[in-house]
Amino acid sequence: MESTVIHPQIVAAYRVLETGEPISHAEALLLANLPGELALDLAALANKVKNRYSSESLHACSIMNAKSGVCGENCRFCAQSKHNRADIEVYDLVNEESVLIEARNCFAAGISHFGIVTSGYGYKRITPEFQRLLDMIDRLHAELPELSVCASFGMLGEEPAAALATHGIAHYNINIQVAPEKYSTLIADTHSVEERIETIKLLRKNNISVCCGGIMGVGESMQDRIAMIFALKELDVSVIPLNVLVPIEGTPLAGKEPVSVAEIVKTFAICRLAHPHKVIKFAAGRETIMKDFQGLLMLSGANGYLTGGYLTTRGRDIADDNRFAAQIASFN
Ligand code: SF4
Repeated sequence: MESTVIHPQIVAAYRVLETGEPISHAEALLLANLPGELALDLAALANKVKNRYSSESLHACSIMNAKSGVCGENCRFCAQSKHNRADIEVYDLVNEESVLIEARNCFAAGISHFGIVTSGYGYKRITPEFQRLLDMIDRLHAELPELSVCASFGMLGEEPAAALATHGIAHYNINIQVAPEKYSTLIADTHSVEERIETIKLLRKNNISVCCGGIMGVGESMQDRIAMIFALKELDVSVIPLNVLVPIEGTPLAGKEPVSVAEIVKTFAICRLAHPHKVIKFAAGRETIMKDFQGLLMLSGANGYLTGGYLTTRGRDIADDNRFAAQIASFN
């Protein structure tokens, strides 16, 4: 009988499982070159690492687009940029009542985290609009004290970041999207990744937990993805959302060929092995692009997901996702 030999390229993953010590950048690059037939072994190990070291079993959250479109930035994947010609609903900041109704529905469906998202560059000062956002957060705390409220308002200056800290949000989402050195070519050049990183530093200075990750399928290489995963280590983030591009008509990335499932599996697994203790969340593209493979990806190291729709595209019904989550939990 043939004895089982652990493939040398995968040894680092076993070490993470034994010790909880993350893989190095060099080890991640080796794992990225694993042949496809070993991708499932890597996924299974990443899933075990998640079970052993990540504090949260399954983190589900839902977002509401509270202000849509007419953004002056030119993010290539985004339907809300005014540089792109996507056909989307455009509206100014919604009122407090609408946010409350959406948050109530989300909470009633069993979702613990609700994020308010606005389009646009962000807020360098506390403008009247930013004050309205702070008031919305207060209202949600008052009416739904058990709901965790998250925010994603773009780039922030000192004052807005400090003000948010006093209003008690669970996490602030701002993504670096890709390897920092590729941001200006793959994502946008109307603002820099350094401005995003500056905001993250301000948030951390104010003890605000940061949700920050990236997107796959925008033309990046596997090495770029690993550079992004390791850049996150420097930024002290708590939650890492990984998105798969949903190519939208009217954006420069419409018609972009999807990344192979095996590459996405490896990216999730490598991200888990580099961040054994963090929440890694599967965000956009889970149901729409990954379809049949979303279950596999949720078992490749992720322990969170975004449910109930995205900013400009519909997702899956929350009730369907709750049933899906129960099945995923049976592998834990
Ligand atoms: S991702 Fe945000 S900043 Fe970029 S274009 Fe879309 S709304 Fe604007």
